[in-house]
Amino acid sequence: MGKRGTTEVNHVTADVVEQKLGTYLNETFRHLHRNPELSGSEFATQAFVKGELERLGIPYQVMAGTGLCAELRGGRPGKTILLRADIDALPINEATGLPYASQTDGVMHACGHDAHTTAVLGTAAMLLERREEWGGTVKLMFQPSEEKHPGGAKPMIAEGLLENPQVNAAIGIHTNPYLAPGTFGLKDGAILANADRFYIHLIGKGGHAAAPHEGADAIAMAGQLIVSLQNLVARQVSPFDNAVVTIGEIKGGYAPNTLADRVYLAGTVRTVNPDTQVLMEEKIGKTLQGIADLWGGSFTYDYVRGYPITWNDKAMTDLVRQAAGLCLGKESVIELPHGYMSADDFAYIAKAVPSVFIEWGTGDWSEEARRSAAAWHNSTFQVNPDALKYGVTVLTQTILNYLQGGE
Ligand SMILES: [Zn+2]
Ligand SMILES: [Zn+2]
Repeated sequence: MGKRGTTEVNHVTADVVEQKLGTYLNETFRHLHRNPELSGSEFATQAFVKGELERLGIPYQVMAGTGLCAELRGGRPGKTILLRADIDALPINEATGLPYASQTDGVMHACGHDAHTTAVLGTAAMLLERREEWGGTVKLMFQPSEEKHPGGAKPMIAEGLLENPQVNAAIGIHTNPYLAPGTFGLKDGAILANADRFYIHLIGKGGHAAAPHEGADAIAMAGQLIVSLQNLVARQVSPFDNAVVTIGEIKGGYAPNTLADRVYLAGTVRTVNPDTQVLMEEKIGKTLQGIADLWGGSFTYDYVRGYPITWNDKAMTDLVRQAAGLCLGKESVIELPHGYMSADDFAYIAKAVPSVFIEWGTGDWSEEARRSAAAWHNSTFQVNPDALKYGVTVLTQTILNYLQGGE
């Protein structure tokens, strides 16, 4: 600790990042945006990142097929911090009309992972320049397949991502079209939700539509189930807690004059509290049992747990608050009143080591434009390239603060 005072450095500024890397960031981002690849097939993206790491002289290893873990070492020994970018795109036809729009039909960077990859490469370049000012290791994680369950983070962890040297803390970053460039949304505790899925078959007994009492109408059972599941959230979950149940798929029935003997429903449950997750899984089962008993039918029910809650460690989140405040002023920190009900497999890293997941302002400058911004996974989703330099500034400063002075 004593060394810290003597290794104090000038803070990073967005102007310096712009001056040193402005062109690089813009070109890298546009290149990646033009060339999106689906989860698990990020071959060209992996090759591109390898090329950039080689150019910078940063050693790396291939993990989880199309993933990479690179190791950037400081001027002396110290702690290890992981910085994560996901690299995959989505099966969406881009409709932004941008000059650098996707050149691959039906595939689009509609979640901003191209910006994440660019920001992490830019941060590596900045840290490299200031290598003598910090100690320890920065692990740069380029993760495949975030968009496709079970995701790329888990296999990378299984292949030793967090070991040799052992990772002490981690940072993840995500584009946010509702926040202005130069701002960062932060929240202690749960920032993203548990994202589970369920699959249900309601099984009744077919027959003539004019004699429902002789059969068991699976469509009537489904109707009752849909209403009951919404009531679970309204009447079984605390008003101070959050949960979402959405049925996104329903199939059943044959003809207007025929009782349906089967209905298939599938949906998602989002929670931010582990007890509520257990409660929802159980209560959906009990609701199904009650409806099946009442109507003389039966059911099958599969509840599949997806990515867990992404948890922001308070000390790590404070580190970002301080870095953003130092580089861009207090107004750059947006304290989020609540997290998001979406999920990310960065959660597995955040479960293993103290972490922070940053909501990175990548929207437009005007309040009005941000209000009408297209959401993630929309065919008109956009990242404002002006945001890149701010992302690199805050990531670089946060890591410098964490690793300054070495051990
Ligand atoms: Zn996404
Ligand atoms: Zn994403």
